[in-house]
Amino acid sequence: MSIVKCPGCGGEVEMFSTDPMAICEACGKTVFNEANTCIRYCIHAEECWGKELCDEFRRCVEKEEVSARSDTD
Ligand SMILES: [Zn+2]
Repeated sequence: MSIVKCPGCGGEVEMFSTDPMAICEACGKTVFNEANTCIRYCIHAEECWGKELCDEFRRCVEKEEVSARSDTD
């Protein structure tokens, strides 16, 4: 089990290290296990995950990258 921080509510979400994602029990948001998901680089991601989930993942990642940049300014 590993603990991932929910991007929606900031709560802790437990997931197995083999899980690509989990649902936050507190707010219902999908929390991605970035270390284990192929969405980021797999060209077939939209076929096997569905477009909606891929879009959600990209939104998550973009938001994190934007906030990481503003932290270093
Ligand atoms: Zn949450």
